[in-house]
Amino acid sequence: MGRSGVIERPDLPPGARRDFNQELHALHRRAGLPSSREIAEEMGRSHASVHNAFRLPKVPSHELAMAIIDRLTLRVRDWGVGIDLETGIETALRRYARLWHQARYEEESLATQGDPLTMSEATRTLLYALSPECSVCQKTRRLRQPHDIVALEAPDEKQLPPRLRKTGLQPEAPNPWRLIHLCSGCRRRRETGDLTELELREARFALDRRPGAARHYAAYLDQLLLGAEPVIDGNVIGSALSIIKDDPAVAADPYFLNHGHIKVDRANGSLSWGQYECTDDH
Ligand SMILES: [Zn+2]
Repeated sequence: MGRSGVIERPDLPPGARRDFNQELHALHRRAGLPSSREIAEEMGRSHASVHNAFRLPKVPSHELAMAIIDRLTLRVRDWGVGIDLETGIETALRRYARLWHQARYEEESLATQGDPLTMSEATRTLLYALSPECSVCQKTRRLRQPHDIVALEAPDEKQLPPRLRKTGLQPEAPNPWRLIHLCSGCRRRRETGDLTELELREARFALDRRPGAARHYAAYLDQLLLGAEPVIDGNVIGSALSIIKDDPAVAADPYFLNHGHIKVDRANGSLSWGQYECTDDH
């Protein structure tokens, strides 16, 4: 207490919660670093609640946050060149209210989105190859976040509990046609209903018609045949083969995988298991 009111910061990942907390600490410095005890006394609140607002990763309540910010702005003597005190306070309060809402929104959506989907690296790679950007709005702002590949709802699965709905019947190996790459903005629009499941399915379907899609499915198919998934789903294999076969650019002479045990004939869209000549490097 006394000399310095410096308060330690919580450990937060980049994002709105960290922005809000950093700005709160910046305002605290600008206000001359009053101790949290001093601020609490002025507000008639407990010392712990004020201290925790600065110190904990949890976003403080709106009422508490704005009350602290209110007290701090009154202590600021200089808002920058040409900005009088009144304007400085008004602008700061508006700005902090906005930062608080963004932080709270981030906190709430983190609480509801649960664990990221489980999928093999082959499936993830396929989805990113088909659509390096958001499959709906084409934005590329954030790449490869754990939650940015999401499962589509099948029209008949509305009644299933969310966890099953999310991952389908094979949680470890979701069907790639049930997955889509979405930016955080589009995930939010989906939650609020601005983006419908039908639009998402159409966006997913459109990926298969992009130039180069067959090549990505061909790479994916090889990975599946080499054991990238815990189970080989015949429907997935069949669908991938039909996309590959339709693109003359990827149709090539038949080749062998897995020490000559699998013959892949892309031009005819067929696979056969047997004992062929081994073409693997040993
Ligand atoms: Zn998007």
